[in-house]
Amino acid sequence: MLIIYSLIILAAFSVFSVIMLNNYKNTQVRNTEIRLFQTANIVADTYKANRDEVIFTRMMVRSYGMQANARILIVDSQGLVLVDNYNDFIGSKIDNKEIRNSLAGKSGSNVYKLEDKEVLQLSVPIILNEFGTDKIIGAVLISFDMTAINNNVNELRNDMIKVGALGLFFSLLLTVVATHNLTKPLRALTIGVEKISEGQLGYIIQKKSKDELGRLIDTFNRMSSTLSKIEKNRKNYINSISHELKTPLTSIKVLIESLSIGNNDVDTYKEYLQDIYGEAERMERLVNYLMESIKLEESIFNLKEENISQILKDTIKLIRPYSDKNNVHIKFTGAENIIVKCDGDKVKEMIFNLLDNSIKYRDPCKENSFVHITLNKENNRAILKIEDNGIGIDEKNIKNIFNRGFRVLEGELNGSVEGYGIGLTIVKNIIDKHGWDISVESTLKKGSIFKIQIPL
Ligand code: ADP
Repeated sequence: MLIIYSLIILAAFSVFSVIMLNNYKNTQVRNTEIRLFQTANIVADTYKANRDEVIFTRMMVRSYGMQANARILIVDSQGLVLVDNYNDFIGSKIDNKEIRNSLAGKSGSNVYKLEDKEVLQLSVPIILNEFGTDKIIGAVLISFDMTAINNNVNELRNDMIKVGALGLFFSLLLTVVATHNLTKPLRALTIGVEKISEGQLGYIIQKKSKDELGRLIDTFNRMSSTLSKIEKNRKNYINSISHELKTPLTSIKVLIESLSIGNNDVDTYKEYLQDIYGEAERMERLVNYLMESIKLEESIFNLKEENISQILKDTIKLIRPYSDKNNVHIKFTGAENIIVKCDGDKVKEMIFNLLDNSIKYRDPCKENSFVHITLNKENNRAILKIEDNGIGIDEKNIKNIFNRGFRVLEGELNGSVEGYGIGLTIVKNIIDKHGWDISVESTLKKGSIFKIQIPL
């Protein structure tokens, strides 16, 4: 890429230099031409006025020749050299294009290449007006050595090459620096993607710019953090499931071990077998729960117009034996006959899970444990609230409670209550599939309010 840039810059600069140098040389030649034509005309006029004074004419030609730094010849109408400021050609005949043209009445100029030199040659006729008629009595021929002009052009060319090389160097330097800076975030992104693909989830790229690339890095960092959270949740989930499965398995092992030692009577066998059965049931419940939560993600919802007030009442009826057993008072107040498009069975399951939690996480220190369920219409929404005065959730844990496998394990009660950290994941899944919204307000030791907003 850099070579292409360099070649483009070099080609552009070369074309520019050639045009510049040509123009410069042409201007120099034209200016010299104008100056020499002026000299030739002055020499012709002076010769015309003093043609009988040979010495004066020679001195005049020598002086103009020195001034113009050129050879000046005056020839007669036959082309014979009358005056030469270098004295070499006096008396010899000159026959060239310029002289022939001038003896025919025309002025002209041309550049000739003689050996390794360039020579500018120009001539003007000497016209005498006698008795009203013009008579060509000779011509002035000036030869100018263009070495000085060519040297100037060469000097300029050398200067331009130096400036060009310097310019090219700096422009390449700038290009290298700019390209390096431009590709820096891209290189950082490539490294980031490599790290993620190597499994280093949560890898963060330092962002320096606020442009498009900066936004891309932001998005990458967000993706990386999300992947890391998902991975952490997955580990937590596997951890808690393994833990949940390990506990009944260990119990079963211990019970079987105890039974196999010594001679036990039938009642002991029965008692131990009952315990083993209980533990097996616990494992079965967990496996069912897991299968259900996986099934839920794939299941298709059957949406119909349903009376959500009735669904609530039916669910409360279902859970009442459990709440009564645990001395938790359940109360429902709110609008009757609110019709909502939903999957009735899934909504029942969702409410059941929330009520189950409210009862499960009741505060044993409180005498009057309650769960208040309210359903109201607000603007074009139905608002369902499930409020309890249970143990509440610490602020730092609230954001995680909908994550699969998350359980609040600190606190005496929480760790001892049976659960797999899946109930609220199921709740959230059902809410999301309906396009509804769920939020939680909770204070430790005071209680929790789960608020569901249902568009009508
Ligand atoms: P599980 O109840 O099986 O542990 P959930 O997904 O239903 O799993 O709940 C996740 C966690 O959220 C629970 O472990 C509990 O700590 C907390 N939680 C849920 N509902 C309540 C509630 N009503 N009161 C207090 N804590 C709750």
